[in-house]
Amino acid sequence: MPFTVVIIGRPNVGKSTLFNRLAGKRLALVDDTPGVTRDWRSADGHVGGLSFTIVDTAGLEDVFDDSLEARMRRQTEQALERADVALFVIDARTGITPLDRHFASWLRKGRTPVILVANKAEGKAGLPGILESFELGLGDPVPLSAEHGEGMADLVEALLPFAPKDEEPEKAAPATVALTEDGLEIPVGDQPEPEEERLRPIQIAIVGRPNVGKSTLLNSLIGQERVLTGPEAGMTRDAIAVDWEWRDRQFRLVDTAGMRRRARVEDKVEKLAVADGLRVVRMAQVVILVVDAGQILDKQDLTIARMVIDEGRALVIAINKWDTVDDRAMALRQVEDKLESSLAQAKGVSVVTISALKGKRLDALLDAVLDSYAVWNRRIPTAQLNRWLEGILDHHPPPLIDGRRLKIRYMTQVKARPPAFALFVNKPGDLPDSYQRYLIANLRDSFDLPGVPIRLALRGGK
Ligand code: GDP
Ligand code: GDP
Repeated sequence: MPFTVVIIGRPNVGKSTLFNRLAGKRLALVDDTPGVTRDWRSADGHVGGLSFTIVDTAGLEDVFDDSLEARMRRQTEQALERADVALFVIDARTGITPLDRHFASWLRKGRTPVILVANKAEGKAGLPGILESFELGLGDPVPLSAEHGEGMADLVEALLPFAPKDEEPEKAAPATVALTEDGLEIPVGDQPEPEEERLRPIQIAIVGRPNVGKSTLLNSLIGQERVLTGPEAGMTRDAIAVDWEWRDRQFRLVDTAGMRRRARVEDKVEKLAVADGLRVVRMAQVVILVVDAGQILDKQDLTIARMVIDEGRALVIAINKWDTVDDRAMALRQVEDKLESSLAQAKGVSVVTISALKGKRLDALLDAVLDSYAVWNRRIPTAQLNRWLEGILDHHPPPLIDGRRLKIRYMTQVKARPPAFALFVNKPGDLPDSYQRYLIANLRDSFDLPGVPIRLALRGGK
C-alpha cells in the first residue's frame, strides 16, 4: 500500500499547484461530477523516488456556506482521518494569517503528523514568511515553490520517515541497472537507507554549453561502465537518474536525459541550453558547471552560473579539457579575473581543473562537490551569529540616516540549503543595499560559507 499524503491549508496558498506538481500532470483525476458533493481530488503522487497517494482539499471551501473556519475545519478533519501525513501549506509571501494560526493550533492537537510547508518561497520575498512560520509550533518549515518546483528535495526528506519501509509491491525498479554482455539487467547498488544522511544521495546536475564535455565527464565519473538508465518512479516523466558511489557517499546525477538530448541534437540556439539547464538545476542540490578550458567562462557560462546561484543551488565550476592547455598559470589567472569581475554572488566558488577524457582530477571534483554540499547545508547557531553581529555593529555600524542611527537588533538563520538569514531592524527600508552586501560578505568570510548563495531578509517591528 502506498502511503497517503493530504494537502491542507487556507485558500490561495498554492495547494492545487502543489497537488499538480506532485501528481505530475495538470488536473489529474479531478473528480468533479456535477450534482455530487465534491470529493477530494486524489492522484498518484511521485517525488524523488517516493510514491504515494496525494489528496488535495482545495475547493472544498465552496461547498458549504458557513464560516470559512468551520468549513476548513470540516474539510481538514475528514481528510486527515485518511492520511498518514499532512502537508500544511502556508503562503510565505503573505506570511502567517490568523486563519493559519487557528489551524496550526488545532493541528498540533491532532494525531496526524504534520509537515509544515512554506510555499511561494522562491527568491527573497518568502524569507520573512518562512521565519514567521516557525512560530506556528509545527517544527521547521519546508520552504518550497510549488510553482517553480524548488525545494522538492527537502520535501522528499521530510516525507521519507512516513514512507513504508517495505513497499515491495509498489517498489520501483532500482534506479540504476547495468547491462551485462548477454543483456541481463542487474541492479547496481541498493536504494540508500532513508535514516542515514550519509547514505542519502547528493543530487547533482552537470550543466554547461554543448561540447564542453558533460557526457564524457558523466561516463568518467561512473567509471566507464555501460550504464543503462531508466526512468525512476517519482521523477518527472522524461527525467533519468544515475546513481553511483564514491568514498562511501552516494551521488545521484539527475536528469541526464536532457543532457543526452542536447548532445544528440547539436544545440544551436544559446537560449535553449539555458532554459533546458534551468529545469535540471532545479532538481539538483549541487550543480557542476562544466566549462571548456579553451574558452574560459564566456558570457553564456556566466549566465548559467548566475542562474545556478539565483536558484539557490551550490555551484562547483569544472574547467574541463585541462589536458589541452599549454599556459596553465595564465589560464588560471583568467578564471580568477572572470570570477572576480563577473560572479561576485558566488565569492569563493570552487573551481577545479579536470580532464574528463583522461579521468584526471575527478576525485578533486567530487571533493569539491562534497565540500560545497556541506556549506550549503550549514546551520549557524543563533548565539554565534549574534556575537558576530555585535562585533560588526561595534566596528562598522550602519551609516547614519538623517543623523539617526538605525537599530539592528538581532539575526537568525531562517533556513539552510542554501543558508538564509533574517535580520531584525527597526526600519528595514532604511538599511542601504551596500551595507547589506557588506554584511553578507563578512558573514561569508567569518563563517566560512564560500561558493553558495547567501540570502538575507530584513524584518521590522518590535
Ligand atoms: P489553493 O487555493 O491553495 O489551491 O492555491 P492555488 O494552487 O490555486 O494557488 C493560488 C495562487 O498562488 C495561484 O495564483 C498560483 O499561481 C500561486 N502560486 C502557487 N504556488 C506558488 C509558488 O510557489 N510561488 C508563487 N509565487 N505563486 C504560487
Ligand atoms: P557535451 O556536449 O558537453 O556532452 O560534450 P561531450 O562529452 O560530448 O564532449 C565533446 C567533445 O569534447 C568530445 O569530442 C570529447 O571527446 C571532448 N572532450 C571531453 N572532455 C575532454 C577532455 O577532458 N579533454 C579533451 N582533450 N577533450 C575532451
